[in-house]
Amino acid sequence: MGKAIVITSGKGGVGKTTAVANIGTGLAMRGFKTALVDTDIGLRNLDLLLGLENRIVYNLVDVVEGRCNLRQALVKDKRLNNLYLLPAAQTKEKEAVSIDQMRSLINELKRDFDFVLIDSPAGIEHGFRSAISGADEAIVITTPEVSSVRDADRVIGLLEANGFGEPRLIVNRVRFDMVKNGEMLGVDDLLEILSIELLGIIPEDENLIISVNKGEPIIYGADKYKSGLAFSLIVKRLLGEDVSWDELEKNETFLERIFKFFRG
Ligand code: ADP
Ligand code: MG
Repeated sequence: MGKAIVITSGKGGVGKTTAVANIGTGLAMRGFKTALVDTDIGLRNLDLLLGLENRIVYNLVDVVEGRCNLRQALVKDKRLNNLYLLPAAQTKEKEAVSIDQMRSLINELKRDFDFVLIDSPAGIEHGFRSAISGADEAIVITTPEVSSVRDADRVIGLLEANGFGEPRLIVNRVRFDMVKNGEMLGVDDLLEILSIELLGIIPEDENLIISVNKGEPIIYGADKYKSGLAFSLIVKRLLGEDVSWDELEKNETFLERIFKFFRG
């Protein structure tokens, strides 16, 4: 039986889909059979980040409505033969999938995959409840902005109320120069506000735009790009490897800054 992990945030546009594409790719690169589920019905875009948009035939709603079986709807990745995407529907009917249907679908995937990563929609409505329903663990993602932190806080409360013991946090789009100048909340401030375990920090990185345009997750460039490196460290931590935060130091400028930042 595999493990299902939901990546959620409350606020939209903070990097959930980017995280699912990169962490999922990273897990598959490490040899784990991985399924990515896009539950953002009506606003699908995980397919674009993976460059799979032209290969979609069926989607999640087709599966639950019986137009195809699960296997037919899964789109195999271009580069990795152990990575699959279950695309969201483009319908406007956001409640097309019930919470029970989503739970049984995720359970079915867990029988076949080592990891099932669930990309959730913005908000805390039906889509959120359905996205978390089949998950064993949750990762909350926030940016250092106050509005995003507030929504993350609310989501952490909801996750805990729904039996998720220890959600873990990813802080995305961190600008270390701004943190240093006191213009942006630092990761330590965030951890204090949210009191949750840190899984990783992703710097602001304009190279992500190129990666999205190419349909190639930036984790493939973990040796070149700081955000790619950051995602690869998150994958290691998810696999239970003990990655010291100093690991980042090997990447000079980026690491230097992050190191300094952790030590004040
Ligand atoms: P969500 O799924 O939470 O709505 P996305 O993953 O779609 O968020 O990201 C929203 C936008 O922010 C995208 O254009 C994405 O490329 C950009 N983005 C995400 N993370 C970063 C980052 N670390 N640096 C720069 N841009 C980022
Ligand atoms: Mg998204």
